[in-house]
Amino acid sequence: MTLHFPFQNTYAALPSNFFARVAPTPVASPRLIKLNRPLALQLGLDPDRLDSPEGAEILAGKTLPGGADPIAMAYAGHQFGNFVPQLGDGRAILLGEVIDQDGVRRDIQLKGSGPTPFSRRGDGRAALGPVLREYIVSEAMFALGIPTTRSLAATITGESVMRETMLPGAVLTRVASSHIRVGTFQYFGARGDTDAVRQLADHVIARHYPELSGAERPYHALLAAVTARQARLVARWLLIGFIHGVMNTDNTSISGETIDYGPCAFMDDYDPSTVFSSIDEMGRYRYAHQPRIALWNLTRLAECLLPLLADDQDKAVAEAQDTLATFSDEFNGAYKEGLRKKLGLFSERDDDQLLAQALLDTMAKGHADFTLTFRRLSDAAGDTADDSNVRQLFAEPVAFDEWALRWRQRLAEEPQSAAERQIAMRAVNPAFIPRNHRVEAVIQAAMSNDDYAPFEELVAVLTKPFEDQPAFAAYADPPEPHERVCQTFCGT
Ligand code: AMP
Ligand code: MG
Repeated sequence: MTLHFPFQNTYAALPSNFFARVAPTPVASPRLIKLNRPLALQLGLDPDRLDSPEGAEILAGKTLPGGADPIAMAYAGHQFGNFVPQLGDGRAILLGEVIDQDGVRRDIQLKGSGPTPFSRRGDGRAALGPVLREYIVSEAMFALGIPTTRSLAATITGESVMRETMLPGAVLTRVASSHIRVGTFQYFGARGDTDAVRQLADHVIARHYPELSGAERPYHALLAAVTARQARLVARWLLIGFIHGVMNTDNTSISGETIDYGPCAFMDDYDPSTVFSSIDEMGRYRYAHQPRIALWNLTRLAECLLPLLADDQDKAVAEAQDTLATFSDEFNGAYKEGLRKKLGLFSERDDDQLLAQALLDTMAKGHADFTLTFRRLSDAAGDTADDSNVRQLFAEPVAFDEWALRWRQRLAEEPQSAAERQIAMRAVNPAFIPRNHRVEAVIQAAMSNDDYAPFEELVAVLTKPFEDQPAFAAYADPPEPHERVCQTFCGT
């Protein structure tokens, strides 16, 4: 009997111009290389049945699971600031939605499963490297507590894809609370289809923001809620050293999850101008630019919603601007609170932001590793003898010593014990992030030697980012100069 998924599809019930019905294109010889068993259970799927040749065929798009209603979603988007009125799922197919163990509706989507009516000139396929990267980084983000799409499985297709060279083809099974993007609103907004914008907004409210359904002005409330979630999301990215890489409006989720892991990366040395993506020549999406880009993207969403906000255009614009103005408080609140926690501060004082900024400035000047500085600072909070481990991360350790003096004066104003502070700091300052050189090494082993043991090990370490894991301590280390990866590629 074919494997049946307990689908309860709602997006496919929207009007037919919201998507194209299209099935995955069968591939030669699928092989499952990774199944996320805990996530399968969470989705109400049987991991043992998925972990089989039949499961591999489903997860690579060779056969459809029972109950699937496969579609490619339509969307538009601003790519590096330029509007493209039609993008859509060019290489992704939504199999359907399931309700997970927590009662949350989740999309199950295949990425790399063959062409769709939205493929334009693309082949609808994905290469193994980017699939592994998305698997590793999205699951690491989840373990770090950051809202994100997830990875249920990675399969190789047994076929090659042509990029700069021939590469092994792969499919990622992605799970998201939905795949609705700012660009989905833009698709209809650009066509002047206000009815569709309203239908989409109603669907989004019912699905992601049900508490707003009774609001007096639900569309104003929706814009405010999406703004708040995006602001908090980007604050979380900055606090963990994450750079998305391609913050186009089609890669901005309405639910507030991190989505579309392309040339994303975590920075090693703290430098606010860090950019990895090979296609981001102007640094539009560099680390420190991410908040303003999120607001720019939300402004594009607001433009689509204008006809729903007020009949009078000027009034609608003024109200949208008022709502977008809340971004800055939401972002600053989340970012400053996060920095206080990273420094082990339990209370809030006026000068805390200056103290945090002084450390960041010292890190930037001293080329200190972002993740390690905060992790080692956590231990130094427990025992001043550990200061030496922090100061050695700085090119000019004396600058750190001066800062540490200020920090300790501030800590002395709080009643919490050193041990309490150390525990609190270790819970927000991870030891392990998916360091770029590690991700690249894992991809190389898989591509060159068909060796997935390094991938398995890295994924396992990253499921517990806040634990020390002495046997894997080397994964916490920054790259040696010769291991440094300076560029990442979309690899589409
Ligand atoms: P991305 O850069 O992955 O966010 O993709 C931007 C757009 O290009 C989306 O509409 C994708 O579906 C489409 N796309 C990317 N790669 C391919 C491909 N290999 N074949 C078809 N469409 C693609
Ligand atoms: Mg995309």
